[in-house]
Amino acid sequence: MEVPENEAEAPSAIESFEDMNLSKDIMMDIRHREYDKPSPIQAQAIPVILSGRDVLGCAETGSGKTAAFSIPMVQHCLNQPPLRQGDGPFAIVMAPTRELAQQIEAEGKTFSRSSKGFRTAIIVGGTNMYEQRSMLRGGVQIIVATPGRLLDHLQQGNTNLARVSFVVLDEADRMLDMGFEPQIREVLMNLPKRHQTLLFSATMPSEVEALASEYLNKPVKVKVGQTSAPTANVSQHLEKVVDGEKVNRLVAMLIGEKNEATKLGSDMPMTVVFVERKNRADEIAELLNAEGVPAAALHGGRSQAEREAALQDYKEGRCSVLVATDVAARGLDVKGVAHVVNMDLPRNFEDYVHRIGRTGRAGMSGRSTSFYTDRDSFIVAQIKRALMELEAGNAFAFATGKEARAKEREEAKAWREGRQHQAAVLETDSGVTIAVEDKFKHMMVSAPAAAGSAAPTAGVADAAWSDDDEDEDGW
Ligand code: AMP
Repeated sequence: MEVPENEAEAPSAIESFEDMNLSKDIMMDIRHREYDKPSPIQAQAIPVILSGRDVLGCAETGSGKTAAFSIPMVQHCLNQPPLRQGDGPFAIVMAPTRELAQQIEAEGKTFSRSSKGFRTAIIVGGTNMYEQRSMLRGGVQIIVATPGRLLDHLQQGNTNLARVSFVVLDEADRMLDMGFEPQIREVLMNLPKRHQTLLFSATMPSEVEALASEYLNKPVKVKVGQTSAPTANVSQHLEKVVDGEKVNRLVAMLIGEKNEATKLGSDMPMTVVFVERKNRADEIAELLNAEGVPAAALHGGRSQAEREAALQDYKEGRCSVLVATDVAARGLDVKGVAHVVNMDLPRNFEDYVHRIGRTGRAGMSGRSTSFYTDRDSFIVAQIKRALMELEAGNAFAFATGKEARAKEREEAKAWREGRQHQAAVLETDSGVTIAVEDKFKHMMVSAPAAAGSAAPTAGVADAAWSDDDEDEDGW
């Protein structure tokens, strides 16, 4: 019998420990620990981990992530046939430092204190190898280790990986920074085929992404805090127009906004209009000025001094509209942009996300208006679907970066081949993303940093937001 794989669905969040179907012993330990309700990452990650899926977690210390993986890890171990003489552990946690390993061990142990015969070994450098060896040889369900020392014990035959079916890489970014990659890979390469892998990292540099894509199987992504994509604050509108009417529609819209503002005695909202070509930017800016809407053009065809002057006029309010090519999309960081207009939609979705990200910055709300014609049907479908996903709670819907680009290429290919249905499947096939929504923030258990709101490099897509990309025309 063939059972169809349904990899796409990830279990929903469960907001009480009682509903998680945990063993009585673990429930007793949770009560003893006085955790009343799961923290956001626990509510999201525990059901996913219990379902057996791999997890890529973007979370910082303080979010409650240790319990988020320790509770299902203990449950996983309790579900295994008992340890026999000479068996190695069921679960391994690798962490960068001795201190972190100790914290994990301490937290993990609290969830197995009621489970008879359950042992956790801590295997870190700087402590007695002999004691560690006898502990390992006596048989343990869980090892919490720094990678180097774990490998020493494996090489000496003090333990083995034959029964490992649950692996956690905690603070993966730090482990790689500290040069543990070879040891981690050595362990991962020698695991039994069937196992579950969880990778947690506060940041997602490309090395961590590479490790994750190599060793995680269709992971569910769990992220605590705000999404890295600022588009959540942007209300996006799509407007179908006929090509020949775009200019009139734009001019009418902007004149309308200017008149509205004048009526209210305020300035016209700061607007960026994106167009496809440099000469079009000049034409539109000229036309707007002629119609009494002060505008400046910003594109790679202008000299450095001209561009700086245009930007200065815009920033200082001498003109309210900046008509720009994509050159400006990446580098432009002007406070107070209220409206982004895509007079011409860009060719790819990632550029769209960058463009609309010029507004809705720094916690402010913004809006975007995109004109489209029949020629834009592919990107319009992508935008509509991402909007639907965003509504459904997928804060990564407007993600950018390597993964998003790869997904987009796959979809574009499927689209070209006229297999739109498959495009949807491809999308779900690459994994599911869960972000802890802002509405759960009050549940954060610890330091404000846990909310991740100020995390400098919080997500997979973050590199793409650094705005330091090279522009094709040397901006
Ligand atoms: P961690 O991010 O794992 O370092 O955890 C941060 C702190 O939150 C630790 O002191 C935990 O003991 C505590 N903690 C974790 N989960 C919960 C919870 N569900 N309720 C209350 N405190 C928690």
